[in-house]
Amino acid sequence: MSKIAIMGAMPEEIAPILEKLESYTTVEYAGNRYYEAKYKGVELVIAYSKIGKVFSTLTATTMIEHFGAKKLLFSGVAGAINPSLRVGDLIVATKLSQHDLDITVFGHPYGFVPEGSVFIAADNEMISMSKEVAKEMGKTIQEGIIATGDQFVANEERKNWIGKEFNADALEMEGGSVAVVCNALNIPFFILRAISDAADMDASFSFDKFLETSAIESAEFVMKMVDKVIAD
Ligand code: SAH
Repeated sequence: MSKIAIMGAMPEEIAPILEKLESYTTVEYAGNRYYEAKYKGVELVIAYSKIGKVFSTLTATTMIEHFGAKKLLFSGVAGAINPSLRVGDLIVATKLSQHDLDITVFGHPYGFVPEGSVFIAADNEMISMSKEVAKEMGKTIQEGIIATGDQFVANEERKNWIGKEFNADALEMEGGSVAVVCNALNIPFFILRAISDAADMDASFSFDKFLETSAIESAEFVMKMVDKVIAD
């Protein structure tokens, strides 16, 4: 039986997923709580990592190396860079980067360290599946580049810089690190975000107001993705 990991960063992002399950067991490991469930003939491991690149790295690694997950799907919220993305809209990451990784003084580009790469691509097969899922749900999804960093961006200037430097459409705080882990361990991954704010001066208010509804939007789509992955 193959195991699928479903991950979020905050409790609000995985609550709607846990609600959909009939039952699950809880395991404490490495300072976090992991939920295990049987679902439509496969095993799921679900967790929220806590915010940021370090905690999300730990959780993604744990789900793969300790719990044996063979695929990983991330559900959460993000700040929009591309003005076509409005609150509640869904963005599927084509590739991800770390916008706060900076050794440019040595002549490297932003987001790059030796033996690494500026961008890491998400699994093409799951990206294709997401188009079918969107059609079936009658939803519009946008594909785009997601930039990740250890900062809540609530600043037009910073947002525009990230948009320009990485050609990014949205930004958040975990996708880029999850991508590094999955890429290194050869685990296909899918990162979905629903927009909670526009990463501008009103971002924290918008985030607080829309976190819950946007997290539900994302979680519902990711569960349909899981169904599709299982059926495949
Ligand atoms: N209000 C929370 C902190 C949220 S941090 C608290 O006080 O505990 C923002 C979270 O949502 C991160 O997990 C990040 O991935 C995502 N996110 C949404 N909008 C963002 C933005 N404008 N900048 C960075 N991350 C954002």
